[in-house]
Amino acid sequence: MKNIKILGAGLSGLSAAINLARAGYNVDVFEKDDDCGKRFHGDLEGLENWSLPVDVIHEFKSMNIKINFDCSPFKTVYLSDGKELLDNTFKKPVFYIVKRGVVENSLDQGLKNQAMDLGVNIHFNSKTKKENMDIISIGTAENKHVGIVKGIRFETESDDIAASLLNNEASNSGYSYLLITNGYGSMCSVNLYVTGNKANMYFKKAYEIITDLFNIDIKNEKNVGGVGCFLLKSRLVENGKIYTGEAAGLQDLLWGFGMRYAVTSGFLAALSIIENKNYKKLIKQRLSGRIKTSVVNRFLSEKVGDRFYTYLIGQAKKDDRWMDLLYRAYNPSLRSRVIYPFARWSLSRRYRNLP
Ligand SMILES: Cc1cc2nc3c(=O)[nH]c(=O)nc-3n(C[C@H](O)[C@H](O)[C@H](O)COP(=O)(O)OP(=O)(O)OC[C@H]3O[C@@H](n4cnc5c(N)ncnc54)[C@H](O)[C@@H]3O)c2cc1C
Repeated sequence: MKNIKILGAGLSGLSAAINLARAGYNVDVFEKDDDCGKRFHGDLEGLENWSLPVDVIHEFKSMNIKINFDCSPFKTVYLSDGKELLDNTFKKPVFYIVKRGVVENSLDQGLKNQAMDLGVNIHFNSKTKKENMDIISIGTAENKHVGIVKGIRFETESDDIAASLLNNEASNSGYSYLLITNGYGSMCSVNLYVTGNKANMYFKKAYEIITDLFNIDIKNEKNVGGVGCFLLKSRLVENGKIYTGEAAGLQDLLWGFGMRYAVTSGFLAALSIIENKNYKKLIKQRLSGRIKTSVVNRFLSEKVGDRFYTYLIGQAKKDDRWMDLLYRAYNPSLRSRVIYPFARWSLSRRYRNLP
């Protein structure tokens, strides 16, 4: 039996481990923390469902990921600039809400259980060196450019809500959101290029605006948040080691929706080993177009500032077109191909090694 060693038991490392173990490999995963999901604190995250025609849940199943974690579909989404409040109901879920962290029924714990059931050996509290590894899945650990998320999670008796606030007083170069599902909520502000203290100030404003817009009851609130990698290092294979997820620079540079990339890249890493295929080619076929488009989106959102959000809100008024707009915004087009070289040049001063 062949042995595979993976560094990091996050989403991408576990997705690779699950697929390799299913194919009969002997898999060891080395995790620096004492459990899976320690980077997160029970907050709710959105598994986006707009960037591909295939539903993300079907996509996960096709990559041998079982849905053994809480996962609530949201078809109705509120969108606000802080003044106007729009609600859109779509034909298919815009996203699925999942829990992250060392809490019951979280995505992290679900993938951990699937991996262990398949016989994967997860070595917790393990600081093994990269040199001995086949796959590196250590998330944002080594990267310097980060996004900062600040917010709260809480218990509530309010109805389920998914709302996004596009207002530059409530986040820096990012957005804020309110998610409530089954009596459990998260409210956060996602920021780029700011310190933790500044991010707290943006969250305070987001809290003020969101509680003004929605009459929600908030009980037992706890602080949540963390940092994310917005540095596209684009390091897929180095010194014979395969990189996955954020460690490979596979992240949505516009809004930080990285979970789908993480699970897919772990699956592709496993596929490249099982079927002796070229990992870089697999990533290029399946993810590179969307990653490059996200570079264009980040460039445009920074160039036009507030007008970018005004445009999105304007499109949202056209109802069904908005989901369509998101799909087109996240996928390569003639427009994105033309703008890409300028976007890459402009952002390369801040983001190194863009694809
Ligand atoms: C606060 C926050 C909110 C987010 N919200 C969303 C969202 O709504 N939707 C979305 O799609 N994405 C979201 N993201 C991004 C998404 O969570 C990440 O892109 C995704 O988790 C990346 O998966 P990964 O496998 O690359 O890394 P991770 O899931 O971070 O896993 C990396 C693992 O490696 C371990 N590790 C690190 N260094 C070492 C080492 N030296 N040795 C051993 N183990 C190590 C870590 O402890 C961790 O367990 C959010 C991120 C943050 C921080």
